[in-house]
Amino acid sequence: MANAERLACDGGTPVRRLLLPYGRQAIDDGDLRAVVDVLNSDWLTTGPMVARFEEAFASAVGAAHAVAVSSGTAALHAAAFVSGAGPGDEIITTPMTFAASANCARYVGAMPVFADVDDRTLNIDPAHVRARLNARTKAIVAVDYSGQPVDLEELSGIAAQAGAVLIEDACHALGAEYRGRRVGSLAAMTVFSTHPVKHITTGEGGVITTNDAALAERLRRFRSHGITTDARMREATGSWFYEMVELGYNYRLTDIQCALGLSQLAHLDSWLQRRRAIVDRYQASLSQVPGVAVPYVLEDRRSAWHLYVIRVDTGALRPGCDRGTVFRALRAENIGVNVHYVPVNWHPYYRALGYGPGDCPISDAAYAQLITLPLFPTMTDADADDVIAAVTKVMKAYHA
Ligand SMILES: *Cc1c(COP(=O)(O)O)cnc(C)c1O
Repeated sequence: MANAERLACDGGTPVRRLLLPYGRQAIDDGDLRAVVDVLNSDWLTTGPMVARFEEAFASAVGAAHAVAVSSGTAALHAAAFVSGAGPGDEIITTPMTFAASANCARYVGAMPVFADVDDRTLNIDPAHVRARLNARTKAIVAVDYSGQPVDLEELSGIAAQAGAVLIEDACHALGAEYRGRRVGSLAAMTVFSTHPVKHITTGEGGVITTNDAALAERLRRFRSHGITTDARMREATGSWFYEMVELGYNYRLTDIQCALGLSQLAHLDSWLQRRRAIVDRYQASLSQVPGVAVPYVLEDRRSAWHLYVIRVDTGALRPGCDRGTVFRALRAENIGVNVHYVPVNWHPYYRALGYGPGDCPISDAAYAQLITLPLFPTMTDADADDVIAAVTKVMKAYHA
């Protein structure tokens, strides 16, 4: 066999000499200048850049208010807190997500309840949500898996009927569209992350958007100890008095980070376009590879494509081969594949609370097939072609 055809894991030449990561931030000179300007200014933490970043973010997603916090996880905690959920209550969420989507229930003393996903999109299935509702349900945390919006209209209706708050975890979905509108104001609260693998970055960071002014005010209070004024407001009014009215946290995002976020936000549209162009290239080629199922996007959605996740038809692989075999072979070809996600209800912390495999059979079965391929806006077409070549090579070797 020619050395180029032999799998790298069997001693062949890898498709790439250097590893292509699955995600990566992009920082340009404008970003650097924005950060240095703040370092030379009077305010490092809550200063003028926070409000400027919040206004620009709200406008980018079509929401009335945006509240910047120190991480996507803090944003979920804040949203769960203002939803009013507490001990004895339940928050319905999906198993096919990062742990933080469920952990926010535990932070406020509530229990997560896992509702199974739609097999086509891996988004939470409204029918399964309905089946899990009861008098204790206080919120629904619905995750736009890989960047494709959940069924917002259906879920809003379910939440309203149940007297629960719909929190959209859009950490994958900055710039995604549902029925022609960007996500950000289509749930009671929409949560974003600005971690470096997400669409724009502030190092660590998160944002909650909402059209509800009262919710926005409560979120602002929660991010700063539950105190009713901030230091800048006190300085402006010359007053020393403040009151802590509830137990909040220090979840503030710094002016340094907000300056970076504001500068990053200017790239959002071109980065979304680039992600979509790479996905078009992937879809066209990978849909032809035997044993590979490419992502499915519903007619009325536009994905923001945080992740590009293929499903390996594990039943059609040679005996003894599974997703892990394909995964390891792709890594050996220097393709930085990943798996999103180990179902949250499978983690030891949740197993100890009585959750585990079997709770959500569709999510369980999908997990055994998932492989995330590299996708980030500074990838070149040649990088994408390497990924396609590697998947084609590896599946040719392992497909029965
Ligand atoms: C990234 C992510 C989070 C957490 O965001 P951090 O900013 O890393 O705290 C939460 N939910 C989902 C679905 C995510 O992808």
